[in-house]
Amino acid sequence: MVKKFIIGIDLGGTNLKCALLDSRLKIKAKSSVSTKSFDNQAKLICGISDTINKFILDQRLSRSAILGVGIGLPGPVDTLKGVVHFLPNIPGWREVQLKKILEEKIKLPVFMDNDAKLMTQAEHKQGAAKNYKNVLCLTLGTGVGGGLIINDLIYRGLDNSAGELGHLPLNENGPLCGCGARGCLETYIGNKKIIHDARKLFGPKITLEEVSALALKNDRKAVDFWSGIGKQLGLALSGIVNLLNLDLIVIGGGVSCAGKVLFESIRCTILSRAMPLQAKRVRIVKAKLGVDAGIIGAGYLVRERLEK
Ligand SMILES: [Zn+2]
Repeated sequence: MVKKFIIGIDLGGTNLKCALLDSRLKIKAKSSVSTKSFDNQAKLICGISDTINKFILDQRLSRSAILGVGIGLPGPVDTLKGVVHFLPNIPGWREVQLKKILEEKIKLPVFMDNDAKLMTQAEHKQGAAKNYKNVLCLTLGTGVGGGLIINDLIYRGLDNSAGELGHLPLNENGPLCGCGARGCLETYIGNKKIIHDARKLFGPKITLEEVSALALKNDRKAVDFWSGIGKQLGLALSGIVNLLNLDLIVIGGGVSCAGKVLFESIRCTILSRAMPLQAKRVRIVKAKLGVDAGIIGAGYLVRERLEK
């Protein structure tokens, strides 16, 4: 029997990750390139196709052994048509027919979706949300992304844009957000804001990993710092818990590594702010698949589309 592989791609703010997945969607090989030089539309598209072509060569694969390529993108995507509406960090990116362009360049079937949705599906199929029916998955990073599973199925909304928890408005007159609105959750707990606050408190060079390490050692200031972030996130989640009566909330992304103090603070806030029945029902756990979730989700996407 000929072995068939899938290539999974995760386009992030700093890196473009590429992985080879086997028929059970286990990662066989990985590579990563910096996206720093892909600062406009043409360079980014070439960057993606060159990376895939090089990866296929490096892995000594023939195209006939590859079922397809799945790509996770940090923006709203028409997953059926393969059109990327908008990418926040690429100026001028509007309604790009990325599927069509890439298929011509790499001569393989290409499928794409929003990265948070791919992470959500991966966690639901083989990660922390396996066997749960109603789940919110969050990624805490530069942006705050989210995906919803309702009755065991991903909930996409009319334009495949449901789940944007980062843009839940918390404050009418709050800071301006990347989405154009004010006072969104992301402006309070996105990486930029957290790092800015941490450096005011702990000195100009501190990293979030170091603040997490301090909290683990019970440093009072660090514990209070993460508790404060947990409170803000917990407050936003209380509304979602009341609205959806979820079984589970999965939290991933760099900030989720802050550890116990962050999760405890989120739990306490939900218990005190959401309605009692829903608050007691919901479990809050850390994502299981880590940085690979998006890539594994891209593998599921390819498999699902080809089966159809
Ligand atoms: Zn926003």
